[in-house]
Amino acid sequence: MEEIKNAEAEAIEKRIEKIKQERSSYIPLLNFFQKVLSAQIGSSPHITIDEDDVRADLARTKIQEGFPLLSKEQIRVDGESAHQLFLTLCQIAEKENRGLEDAIKKIRGALHDKKMHFQELVELWVKGKGSLNPELDSLHLPLLSLLLQYSVQPSLKAVASRLKDLVNEELWTRGYCPICGSFPFIAEMRGEGGERIFHCPSCSHAWKGRRLFCPFCENTEAQSLRYLYLEKESEYRIDLCDQCKRYIKTVDARKLDTPVIPGLEDIATLHLDILAEENGFHSVNSMRKLFADHTPSRQKGVKRRKP
Ligand SMILES: [Zn+2]
Ligand SMILES: [Zn+2]
Repeated sequence: MEEIKNAEAEAIEKRIEKIKQERSSYIPLLNFFQKVLSAQIGSSPHITIDEDDVRADLARTKIQEGFPLLSKEQIRVDGESAHQLFLTLCQIAEKENRGLEDAIKKIRGALHDKKMHFQELVELWVKGKGSLNPELDSLHLPLLSLLLQYSVQPSLKAVASRLKDLVNEELWTRGYCPICGSFPFIAEMRGEGGERIFHCPSCSHAWKGRRLFCPFCENTEAQSLRYLYLEKESEYRIDLCDQCKRYIKTVDARKLDTPVIPGLEDIATLHLDILAEENGFHSVNSMRKLFADHTPSRQKGVKRRKP
């Protein structure tokens, strides 16, 4: 286990160094994200799974009928380890980004004064259950949501790694994650044939998707699916759907000499989110607004293509 963790940390470091060399404007963000990832790797959530969640016959039927293996109700989080991680991430965010100091202080204060409870926040984030105390409308909600996402990710990743063998990829044709039902936040092209892989922002599961396909509205018509890319960064592209006006960024792993770290690729390409938005498209998972201050804006050499 330790060895896997070390190998993971090493791969992250390698990729971060490479991106820093190529795009120095992202250095502060990458430093922040590197600390987040290493805090996540250090957290070891303890997860128990209900027998019914893992029955292979049920799993096959669910996948065949287009339902994720876990309903929101069945998703489990190790509250204690997520809470510890949340507090560590607050410290990291505060230290690495002075601009977020006040926002973090308010979040901590609301927890300390019991105006909100961590476990309730997790229920709200993972299951969409409950609502935030209306008195807390001055909280930085995108930041709170991001910290929650990063805090529960190790738990959800542990669940996904136990269940992933029950997903029959050949049977799964939907745009959302076959394990937890979230929409992908980034895609990857890999292998000789250019397989398209979607990555889940919640449970970190990766699954094979169709190449000519919008994961959000399941559009498969070639005339309304196209992509943009920057001449100097042909390893990334933005897949656009004219039908639902959403987009997803794609990393071409075949053009990189370091492994793809999905969360990192997302954060180090926020300029592509700006480009997509300038072209009238929006994302279901974009982090750009939160980190707007650090994002280089104008881009030259935009290419437009049909897939
Ligand atoms: Zn998932
Ligand atoms: Zn679409």
